[in-house]
Amino acid sequence: MESDRTGAAADRPWHALAVDEALRDFVTGRDGLEDSEAVRRLAAHGPNRLPAAKPRSAFRRFLAQFDNLLIYVLLAAAAITLALGHVIDAGVILGVVIINAVVGFVQEGRAEQALDAIRSMLAPQASVVRGGPRLTVAAEELVPGDLVLLEAGDRVPADLRLIRSRNLRIEEAALTGESVPVEKAPVPVAADAPLGDRSSMAFSGTLVAAGSGAGVVVGTGTATEIGRVSALVGTVEKLTTPLLRQMDTFARRLTAVILGGAAAVFAFAVLARDYAAEDAFLTVVGLAVAAIPEGLPAVMTIALAIGVRRMAARNAIVRRLPAVETLGSVSVICTDKTGTLTRNEMTVRAVVTTAGSFAVTGVGYEPRGAIRRDEEDVDPATHPPLAELARAALLCNDAALRQVGDGWVVEGDPMEGALVAFARKAGLEPELRRHLPRTDEIPFDAQYRFMATLHHGHDGGGFLCVKGAPERLLAMCDRQRGAADDEPLDRDAWRARVEALAAEGQRVLALATKPMPAGRRDFTFADAEGGLTLLGLVGLIDPPREEAIAAVRDCQAAGIRVKMITGDHAATARTIAGQLGLENARDAVTGRELDNPSEPELRRAARAADVFARTSPEHKLRLVQALQAEGTVLAMTGDGVNDAPALKRADVGIAMGRKGTEAAKEAAEMVLADDNFASIAAAVREGRAVYDNLKKVIAWTLPTNGGESLIIIAAILLGFTLPLTPVQILWINMVTAATLGIALAFEPPEPDVMRRPPRAAREPLLSGLLVWRIVFTSVLFVIGAFGMFFWALQRGLPLEAARTIVVNTIVVMEIFYLFSVRYQYRTSFTREGVLGTRAVLLAVAAVTALQFLFTYAPVMQALFETRPVAFRDGLAIVLVGVALLVPLELEKLVGRCLGRLRGHDHRA
Ligand code: ATP
Repeated sequence: MESDRTGAAADRPWHALAVDEALRDFVTGRDGLEDSEAVRRLAAHGPNRLPAAKPRSAFRRFLAQFDNLLIYVLLAAAAITLALGHVIDAGVILGVVIINAVVGFVQEGRAEQALDAIRSMLAPQASVVRGGPRLTVAAEELVPGDLVLLEAGDRVPADLRLIRSRNLRIEEAALTGESVPVEKAPVPVAADAPLGDRSSMAFSGTLVAAGSGAGVVVGTGTATEIGRVSALVGTVEKLTTPLLRQMDTFARRLTAVILGGAAAVFAFAVLARDYAAEDAFLTVVGLAVAAIPEGLPAVMTIALAIGVRRMAARNAIVRRLPAVETLGSVSVICTDKTGTLTRNEMTVRAVVTTAGSFAVTGVGYEPRGAIRRDEEDVDPATHPPLAELARAALLCNDAALRQVGDGWVVEGDPMEGALVAFARKAGLEPELRRHLPRTDEIPFDAQYRFMATLHHGHDGGGFLCVKGAPERLLAMCDRQRGAADDEPLDRDAWRARVEALAAEGQRVLALATKPMPAGRRDFTFADAEGGLTLLGLVGLIDPPREEAIAAVRDCQAAGIRVKMITGDHAATARTIAGQLGLENARDAVTGRELDNPSEPELRRAARAADVFARTSPEHKLRLVQALQAEGTVLAMTGDGVNDAPALKRADVGIAMGRKGTEAAKEAAEMVLADDNFASIAAAVREGRAVYDNLKKVIAWTLPTNGGESLIIIAAILLGFTLPLTPVQILWINMVTAATLGIALAFEPPEPDVMRRPPRAAREPLLSGLLVWRIVFTSVLFVIGAFGMFFWALQRGLPLEAARTIVVNTIVVMEIFYLFSVRYQYRTSFTREGVLGTRAVLLAVAAVTALQFLFTYAPVMQALFETRPVAFRDGLAIVLVGVALLVPLELEKLVGRCLGRLRGHDHRA
């Protein structure tokens, strides 16, 4: 770092230097570094990041796969079986365990990679001034000497020596543990000031709680204070959710039950059925292996990870995994308007001054177009209030337009970009900002809804430019700019003009000005809040996103109420809500009505209304609380630093990836990469699909385990010859768990996922319906297996051949059952139902190949005591599979009818 300091003041710490000394020290002008110099310094200092925590080694990850009670039981069984000299049995049990571990290892690795990729999508950014214009760059690319701009909600991207500040308050808990924000200003402090008192510095990793500022980077990466405190960042999030933990507990209890049951069966076999202890033991081991759903936890994790990946592909980046589950039960989505439901591509369409109304032509941000009245172009210079309004629009503005290829893009706020385009159409050049330099400002804040700047001309005369929400500005003005002179303000006339523009769906902004004494270099709220002269209004259009209209419709069909919460004017909000097709678009509730209502009133308003206008972030929090008290599970969007409490409180807080502040992103469960409402609907869809898939995985795994166990228990209790040997049971588990079981984790959403109402928040995963299906299917498996067994014996086939038929029958039934489970409520007898998916087909092909080997390969015949199955018997086996579908589909049909009879949805 020292290499970039001129050395003049290198013996004193930065916080004690004067601003100009600090700038000189890093050879940085007020326009920031040149790009080439930034590149050179990046090469010299390396990227601005802290070394990441070391990931677990592959070997450790593999070992972790065995750290599971179900696996311990299996390993113990293998050890005892081996001690008894049954090498094949022990080998197959080990095979089950290892295959399970390999599958878990590979899939978990992919899941972790997916999460890493998602994390990098959330890499922080910084606003810098380089060679003049303001740019957004990745925080990693900052170098010492860069000029960084700070705004409320930003995470400070590097250690900065402040050169400018406005009400800047920074929360330094990350560094000092102190959660009360401290005031910051460029004034130097004593060289020996402790960290917490260095108010002239902004430290990397701390959070801008309010105000704005700028600073020169003095330390990046490990050379920052936070880098010194902790050399490592990045905690590894465990791949789990409440639901998975619940299943884990369930699996552990199930293991205890299985072990108890197995002991009882062992005792019964030896005491009541005269089994030799060793045979009985082997059978019971087979039983335990059959019953233990050892693959379940891994497959459920995989289903979750696939969901996260699919959501990321749809621009919904999950920051906290439990959100994936919660999304499936969301019944209300509260969303911002600007940029989420609308395109946030603003264009000034109308201007109103005391001289009348003007239309503005042109497309997008391209600064080409005309100002017209009565179908004729007008020259703004001949309409003084209009010219002055355009000047204020350009000066009270931080945005810049940049030409990229054929198009124009905005650096900064899109609405301000639209104002720059308008000012240029009115004949002004951006250079005007240099000629009328700004010496002080009050940045825009959703709390007070205006922005004000102080400028000085060559003659030294000063004036304020103010822009903001019309009601707010009308209260701050007492005069209006007339053609010749100032006139008293006619508030009612202006209110009518605002209403007229807003009713067309335009966002309305008012602009005002005020002369200031020549010597004043700064100003206060009191200066800006009174004695202003109104220049006029601008109307901006920001059309709804087409895809948002469709997504709102999807949500409504899915039983999800969409509510719009906006800072905009009520009339604008109503019109846009109507265009979007929100249910109750006509009645907008305004923020003021939410200020002091009684609890029941607040709840009633929150429940009934769908449009909330002129709201501030506190209103969002109150709405979340009111709706939650009504028992809704809700998602809430937000972007500002003040939205963080509402985002934290909501069941699923959703932050905007582009225009959102770091503070909002960190408070949120999910971040939208494209700020688009349609992505929320897509995430809900995927969330529901994940939950469905978890249920399907369970619905498939448990009955197959249950069916196999019941077959053995029934045989022992009733004193039949075992229809399959313990080692054959192990084989079935080994081949089906690694193939069929996993296929379900990849299931796409069912076609009707967005036509069902949301799942009740408290609905247990093992619902009554699911438990019933597990029992029902287990019984069907027993009937099919015993039926084939006795039929084979009756025809005089040897025991080994009959057992081979039984093994194949069970596997075939599992395959057919898989097809049935893929649709929970609908019939599987459809084109897509029969064709399956790639994952399903691959799994079926793999299992079929393995079963052919098992049946016909000589070594398998020796290992597993199998015999070839005749073609006719093979056909019969497949027919049993087909026949299994009949009761399963009938059950779904009855369920659907019952649901309809009861007047419910089709979920019986
Ligand atoms: P949403 O909450 O749906 O994103 P919004 O962007 O309109 O809507 P806010 O950002 O809170 O909400 O803005 C509220 C009002 O403040 C706007 O309607 C506008 O009148 C005014 N406003 C917004 N941005 C600025 C700005 N940069 N300068 C001055 N006034 C602004």
